[in-house]
Amino acid sequence: MLETPRPQIVFTLTARCRDCYRCLRACPVKAIRMQNGQAYVDEKRCIACGTCIRECPQQAKTFRNDIDVARRLIDDGHFVAASIAPSFAAVFNRWQRSRLPSALRALGIRYVGQTSHGAYQISLESRRIAEENPAGPHIATACPALINYIEKYRPQLVGNLLPLLSPMAAHARLLKEKLGKETKVIFIGPCVAKKSELTRPDVAGLVDCVLTFKELNAWLLQKGIDLSMCEESNFDEKPVHQAQLYPLPGGLIKTAGLDDDGLNLKLLRVDSIQGVRELLTGIEENPEQAIIEPLFCSQGCINGPGVDPGKNLFDRRRDIIEYNEETRAASVTPEPADGRLFTATFVGADSGSSPGSVTEEQILKILAQTGKQDPEQQLNCGACGYDSCREKAIAVALGMAEPEMCIPYMRRLAERRTDQIFSTTPNGVLLLDDELNILGMNPAFKKFFSCSDVILGRHISYLMDPAPFEKLISGVTENLDITVLHRPYNLLCRELLYMLKEEKQIVGIFINITSQQEHEKKLREIRSQTVEQANELLEHQIKMAQNIAQFLGESTARGEELVRKLMSLSESDESNTR
Ligand code: SF4
Ligand code: SF4
Ligand code: SF4
Repeated sequence: MLETPRPQIVFTLTARCRDCYRCLRACPVKAIRMQNGQAYVDEKRCIACGTCIRECPQQAKTFRNDIDVARRLIDDGHFVAASIAPSFAAVFNRWQRSRLPSALRALGIRYVGQTSHGAYQISLESRRIAEENPAGPHIATACPALINYIEKYRPQLVGNLLPLLSPMAAHARLLKEKLGKETKVIFIGPCVAKKSELTRPDVAGLVDCVLTFKELNAWLLQKGIDLSMCEESNFDEKPVHQAQLYPLPGGLIKTAGLDDDGLNLKLLRVDSIQGVRELLTGIEENPEQAIIEPLFCSQGCINGPGVDPGKNLFDRRRDIIEYNEETRAASVTPEPADGRLFTATFVGADSGSSPGSVTEEQILKILAQTGKQDPEQQLNCGACGYDSCREKAIAVALGMAEPEMCIPYMRRLAERRTDQIFSTTPNGVLLLDDELNILGMNPAFKKFFSCSDVILGRHISYLMDPAPFEKLISGVTENLDITVLHRPYNLLCRELLYMLKEEKQIVGIFINITSQQEHEKKLREIRSQTVEQANELLEHQIKMAQNIAQFLGESTARGEELVRKLMSLSESDESNTR
């Protein structure tokens, strides 16, 4: 049987998309394809960072829900273990944390582990590799979005990535070693990009399902499991001190026991897309012997797209640090595992973006389409979502963007159309300020009132009775639909007057109905003449009818007399014959 293809990791709920380009502006790799006013995610380009999910004001960007996958693992009778990311301490309050293991067991999970065990081993390995290979820079990261980014967009830096699994995959390997190869592992954390890790050859078969904390909460709700009704209980694994700090920038370096006062130039931690980009560009241009720990989300995984955004970031950070301290006494320091268990391979990947395939001629042609052939016309304002007009032109050539996305161009076009309507409409258009001074008139209005721009700035009473406009200004009414005879101009107008509240201006539209009125008058005259003539005709016809009737009446009487005579003659003939 054919399996239904899984939806892509990040996608758009098109019915909600309002074509605002915000996701495109925020997407660090411009993986959003604008098509017919909808913002689609191009899976090949997407690094699953989830930035667009956080940014979309309409909640039109979302990620794949894998609750069904997790449920199936349990329903199929597998021994299922959970690997809970250390950022759970930022998501759940203190009383909730102690009940979480029971809630997970109520879902059918048989072993509740902590990803910090995998994180600890990865930190040790990172340190070992970096110390054995002093030539850097070494990029040590637990962030799959960052790895996707380097593989697709900075392949020249792939060799700088430490060839290690993520803490999630490392922990899954430890769990399978400990609980048996048949164990199924569900990772639960803050990260959407972790879902993309499942397709990596190194990770396939280690982690069986990735859920975010949002999905976990939805699953508990579906099952009617209320944390407040669950018993307090322990995880099946004790926490690992310091590795609980992994969700914060610098957590890996700290767990590795490296000098971390934040001022060591050989240990660089960076978070946020902007910071990551700048640092990577920096090391490309000037390679340093340093260990770099980048995380894609601003403030690290505590701000991951799989976390409900209710709690503020500083509280989340505080909760992580406090939890690390509170659990210090109960924590363990695991034995270093065999590093070979955690090796991974990274390779450059095709993002399908290939801007180099677009010719200069194509770019210039597209720029010209939107009136940007001259560099001074290229505003590079970023309103379309691209950093420059040129980048947007390249995106148009690659089918990722549409020419109409240029807002200044569309505004100019609209203004030009409005100007055209303003100057060619047969109706007069008048614009007044809130003191009833004339701000503007179109050619039709000037013709109606035989005036020119010389009267701009003068009070409307110069041309007509200001009373209707005063009514609007006083707020008695918001609009008027009146018919006014302007005798001096021999002009009868239907006038639609209304207030532009925000602009504090009055607009008047004057429809000349003088000739229409004359036409109607003529029609009325013709109609009354016609009625008169019809009456005359009718009278005449009645008379004629009466005459005819009279004539017919006389001839009928004579006819009757004649018939009577003939009948008496025939009767007398008959009696004579007998
Ligand atoms: S942010 Fe993107 S997905 Fe959301 S409404 Fe705007 S264009 Fe659509
Ligand atoms: S998930 Fe990240 S890379 Fe993918 S479309 Fe959204 S912002 Fe862009
Ligand atoms: S910073 Fe953390 S949550 Fe954000 S993409 Fe990277 S791993 Fe995922």
